[in-house]
Amino acid sequence: MSLFIAPPFGRPAFRYGMRTGTTEAIHKPAARYNRPLTGRRENFGAWEEGGFAGFVPRERLMSGIDQMRAWVVDRPGPVTGEPLKLVHRAVPEPGPGQVRVRVLVCGVCRTDLHLAEGDLAPKRQGVTPGHEVVGRVDALGPGTGRFQIGDRIGVAWLGSTDMTCRFCLRGAENLCLSPRFTGWDQDGGYAEYVLVREEYAYALSDAFSDEQAAPLLCAGIIGYRALRQAALPHGGRLGIFGYGGSAHLVAQVAVAEGAEVHVFTRSARARELAMSLGAASAGPSPVGQRIGLDAALLFAPAGSLIPIALEALDRGATLAVAGIYVDAIPGLDYERQLFQEKRLRSVTANTRVDGEEFLAIASRIGINVTTTPYPLEQADKALVDLSQGRVTGAAVLRVAEAG
Ligand SMILES: [Zn+2]
Ligand SMILES: [Zn+2]
Repeated sequence: MSLFIAPPFGRPAFRYGMRTGTTEAIHKPAARYNRPLTGRRENFGAWEEGGFAGFVPRERLMSGIDQMRAWVVDRPGPVTGEPLKLVHRAVPEPGPGQVRVRVLVCGVCRTDLHLAEGDLAPKRQGVTPGHEVVGRVDALGPGTGRFQIGDRIGVAWLGSTDMTCRFCLRGAENLCLSPRFTGWDQDGGYAEYVLVREEYAYALSDAFSDEQAAPLLCAGIIGYRALRQAALPHGGRLGIFGYGGSAHLVAQVAVAEGAEVHVFTRSARARELAMSLGAASAGPSPVGQRIGLDAALLFAPAGSLIPIALEALDRGATLAVAGIYVDAIPGLDYERQLFQEKRLRSVTANTRVDGEEFLAIASRIGINVTTTPYPLEQADKALVDLSQGRVTGAAVLRVAEAG
C-alpha cells in the first residue's frame, strides 16, 4: 500500500471524486467511473481531514483490492428502520499528519445512536460512525512521526481542532470553534480501517485488552470530564442518573476517590452491576428520598430527569449533563430545583488532557470494563439493543482479530 497518493488533478485514471461517495461507486461502477472530466477543481473532491478515500485509482477499486467493509449512516431515522447500511468502500489513504489504523474493536456509544436516528444532524452524507476505536497503526501519512507501524492506539471523538481559536488558546479545545469529530465530521470506526490525525490519537497501555480499552475512549473520557465538571467534594455523595457504558466507568473512578455513589436507573440488571462495582445504593429514582447529593451526573438522554436530579442536590451542588443530546426539559421550580446556588452544567466533548488523565487513572485503579460484544456485521443490532436498554455495560464491535 502506498503511503501517499498525490491529488490526481488532470489524470483521468484518478478522476473519481470524493463528493460522490465511494459506496455508490461500488454498487454502480459504470455510472460513477465514467463521469466526464469537467476540469473544475471541485469535481476532484478536496483534501479533507476525514481522509482521502475519494482518490483511489480506478483500477484498484474495480479489481476489488483495497476495499473494506464500513457502516454508513444512510437514511437517519428510527433505529429499528435500518438507518445504517453496511457497504464496501475504498480503504482510505492517510494524508499529511494522519495515520491509518486497522480497526480491532470499536465501541458503540449513545452518540452513534443519536446520529443514526437523526437526533444529531449528520455533518456529512454517508459518514461512518464510531469514535471508540482500538486498532493498530498500519500506514503512516506524510509528516508523521509519533507512532510506528504496528503500534496499538485509540481513536476518540475529538478528531481535530483548529488550535488557533480563543478557546483552543486558553486550553478549552473541547469548545473549539472549528472542531472535527470522529464518526460525525469524518469517518469513524464502524469499519475495517480509519484515519486519525496522529496528535489526536491516544497511546494505549497494555493494562487493557482491545475490548476493554474501546469504551474508555468516549464513555470513559466524557464520563470523567463530567465528574470533574460536577466538582464532587472529597468523600461526597455522588448521584448517577442512567447507568450504562459511561456511568459504570466513572462510578469506579468516583468510588476509588472515596465518593459515596448512588445510582438511579430503571434497569434491574444495571442496578445489580452498579452494586457489584461499589455503589452505596442503586434504585429506580430518588423521588421521595432526602439524599442531599453533593454532585450528580446525568447520563440518560431524558430531559425529564433534570428537575428530579436538581431537586436531589444539596445546596451549592452541581448537576453535570454528560450527553450530547437530551430531549425536552420540563419547566423548573426555581425554589426547589435551582435556588441555594445549585448549578446545572452541560459537558461538551473533552480535551486531550481529560483523555490522558482518565486513561492514566483507569490504568492505575484497574478499572473494570463490562462489555457486550457484537461482530461488525451486527452494528445495527447493537444500536437497537442500546436504544432498548438491553446492553449491559458498553456494547463493542469486534472488527478484526488482534495481531
Ligand atoms: Zn479552536
Ligand atoms: Zn461517544
